Amino acid sequence: MDKFREECGLFGIYGHTEAANLTYLGLYALQHRGQESAGIAASDGHRLQVHKTMGHVADGFSEEVFARLGGTSAVGHVRYSTAGESGLKNAQPILIDCAHGEIAICHNGNLVNAQELRDALVAAGSIFQTTSDTEVLLHLYARSKAPTVEGALIESVMQAQGAFSLVLLTKDRLIAVRDPHGFRPLTIGRLGGSFIVCSETCALDLIDAEWVRDVEPGEIVVIGPDGMQSIKPFAPAPSAHCIFEHVYFARPDSYVFGRSVNEVRTELGRRLAAEHPIPADVVVPIPDSGVCAATGFAEAAGLSLQMGLIRNHYVGRTFIEPHQSIRHFGVRVKLNPVKSILQGRRVVLVDDSIVRGTTSRKIVKMVRSAGASEVHLRISCPPTISPCFYGVDTPRRSELIGATHTIDEIRRYIGADTLGYLSLDGMLASVGPARKSYCTSCYTGVYPVAFPRNEAAYLQLALKLVE
Ligand code: SF4
Repeated sequence: MDKFREECGLFGIYGHTEAANLTYLGLYALQHRGQESAGIAASDGHRLQVHKTMGHVADGFSEEVFARLGGTSAVGHVRYSTAGESGLKNAQPILIDCAHGEIAICHNGNLVNAQELRDALVAAGSIFQTTSDTEVLLHLYARSKAPTVEGALIESVMQAQGAFSLVLLTKDRLIAVRDPHGFRPLTIGRLGGSFIVCSETCALDLIDAEWVRDVEPGEIVVIGPDGMQSIKPFAPAPSAHCIFEHVYFARPDSYVFGRSVNEVRTELGRRLAAEHPIPADVVVPIPDSGVCAATGFAEAAGLSLQMGLIRNHYVGRTFIEPHQSIRHFGVRVKLNPVKSILQGRRVVLVDDSIVRGTTSRKIVKMVRSAGASEVHLRISCPPTISPCFYGVDTPRRSELIGATHTIDEIRRYIGADTLGYLSLDGMLASVGPARKSYCTSCYTGVYPVAFPRNEAAYLQLALKLVE
């Protein structure tokens, strides 16, 4: 589907006899944050063991693997590649042994100064095993002369700029780090006497753990034999939580940045209905991402919500597609229209975003073919006009239809009777009083943390002159 892609989910647990198994379950709950690779590292108090696999969590771990991942603390990672090519060598956790002992790292985010740091490290003799920006942090850590693990970690993360939520494991400590802007979520839970850190609270729910609090932006939380310790080495910085977590990435049953994702998403839909009302017969979500916003839209508009598009949940990663014989096969294999709901009706389709516009165009066409008399498309956020440099996979600006076309041009391309996007103000009002603490760069092109204006950034941002 035509979406921005979240890149990583993190989970860590300290002080449980089934640490690796619970990490597996935690990653299972976080699978939506990355499907290309998964990995778990576990400590038995002396040594760390790691297992990494391509593909989904459920496919890559066996009883034999868990027998090897013994011990009472573990960290895990699911990944969709952003910085660094995909592949097992870039899968996480990355485990190293250095003067400070063994350490495994899991990273969600993107360092904007990774190349600069990497160039300096290579010039000083470092040899990299991966192309991932996460390894840069490990090299900085390994080279630190600080006498403690905490000191070496502080020295390394203080040199990083950009987005980083980290979960690290040493032989006797679980450590969580969040960058000073708090771009990506990271939260703390408890299960009896065990501590947990993870990207979203849905991972706590699955293992019956209770939520304690978020790791604060700029905070390092060290969990070890002496309990939990909080270190705040960074200068205070304005918060820049990724608002797209609320719009699309996070699961609706999670709380992120202190708010219920379902509540925020439903409110986005209510405000969308207020900003772009339309006489219609039925509101139909584009599943799954449009469901909460469509619920809010229908509620505020006084219209009935019906599942006029059914999603096939069992579509594999690849399938053999016929060339010409079945038109729109690509989208049809994932979504199928329910004729009895759509035929002869004025339909409001609700979705969370339009990236290139190609999928929306196919869906609108499909709904019309199913007999809808009118098709109105409503989007629960503003047009996405600029790429993300903070760890979310986005196409180049030239490929973002919101950056290159007016709303009416998009409407005509998509083939909808009307098209309405939620305003920036409406989106920020939906996240509540903390509206100033969010990153909205992909909607505004205004970036809270500067990034190097190198060739990669130019390619991301430059507009194509000729289509
Ligand atoms: S640019 Fe967009 S996707 Fe990236 S962190 Fe900011 S809000 Fe999130």
